[in-house]
Amino acid sequence: MKIHEYQAKKIFEKVGISIPKEGVATSPEQAMGVARDIGLPVVIKAQVHVGGRGKVGGVKLARTEEEVKEFASMILGMDIKGLTVRIILIGQAIDIERELYLGVITDRGSNRPVIMVSTEGGVDIEGVAKKTPEKIHRFTVDPAYGLLPHQAMNLAFSLSSEVKETRKIATTLQKLYQAYIVADASLAEINPFVLSRDGNFYAIDAKVVLDDNALFRHPDYEKMRDFTHTEKIEQEAKERGLSYISMDGNIGCVVNGAGLAMTTMDVIKHFGGEPANFLDVGGSSDPQKVRHALQFLLIDEGVKSIWFNIFGGITRCDDIALGLVSAVDELGIDLPLVVRLIGTNEKKGKKILAESGLDIHTVETMEEGAKTAIRLSEGRK
Ligand code: GDP
Ligand code: MN
Repeated sequence: MKIHEYQAKKIFEKVGISIPKEGVATSPEQAMGVARDIGLPVVIKAQVHVGGRGKVGGVKLARTEEEVKEFASMILGMDIKGLTVRIILIGQAIDIERELYLGVITDRGSNRPVIMVSTEGGVDIEGVAKKTPEKIHRFTVDPAYGLLPHQAMNLAFSLSSEVKETRKIATTLQKLYQAYIVADASLAEINPFVLSRDGNFYAIDAKVVLDDNALFRHPDYEKMRDFTHTEKIEQEAKERGLSYISMDGNIGCVVNGAGLAMTTMDVIKHFGGEPANFLDVGGSSDPQKVRHALQFLLIDEGVKSIWFNIFGGITRCDDIALGLVSAVDELGIDLPLVVRLIGTNEKKGKKILAESGLDIHTVETMEEGAKTAIRLSEGRK
């Protein structure tokens, strides 16, 4: 689970990493209040789950109250890589002398935490790793011992030759490692970790990714969850007993069973189409579930045709057909519907569809289903 910069900084603050004075706001007026408490100048930063906000105008320095108001209004509501900014952080502006990079990441190769440091802070670290990999220093931690002081010192010496500075960097590295451990994070990163002109170090940006498998140990972290639009829909689907994953294509699929869902997507791809989603209604044949499934498909404006691909085992085809007919009646769907019903009570199901008077394209085979759904999706705006 990704969390916001201001939330990550709270975790860092708890272990004693120094953070500039800061607060969050959801309106320009609130932002001005926070700025007044902190004192000008301040930086105003978009809180969205993407990096590189600085480059796209999501980080601005405000010197006056007017600028605080202006930049806060500008950044709130801004779209950054498809995410809308709803919260901004207002932080004490730091007069920067140098920017460093400090990070801890769970390394799948060694199955251990790896500390990474670089003198090239502030910019995107993936770029540094590609172009000048020699500028990133790594250390693999033995989790039984943690990051020991001399190991942290050693890393710090690759960033500075001033003993006074290296001591501070080394302690921060140990604190960062501690934050990573106590939070059960898979990533904890400070980019940049800055040295100010008056000789202090601050974490002016923070990124933490929490390990989903350990979230049960941190019930208090649940309130930090911030769903994107698609994640919200997927979560709602889950609450209704459906596995729904949204994708970029235009053929909506309603399927029972994960294996059949995968096959259905493969077959659509094989014949040149693009599935719009993965949707598994599961093993039961609750007509209510069919209705919910269709509702989720209709939220996605990219869907141009719908393919019901049902294998009747425990699921009864007549139940699916009943659910389908009532849902289409109720929701007023005007998208082309392709239906393949095979298995338990297949004949009954087909009869219900035929007698419904609805414009449904019934098909017998996977190939026919995919081709029909693709053909009907074409040319629809
Ligand atoms: P990111 O672009 O999403 O990684 O956001 P950051 O918080 O890392 O900010 C991007 C850049 O803005 C930093 O690398 C700094 O160069 C600059 N910046 C951020 N906060 C301050 C500040 O308090 N003072 C100054 N001078 N620059 C800052
Ligand atoms: Mn950054």
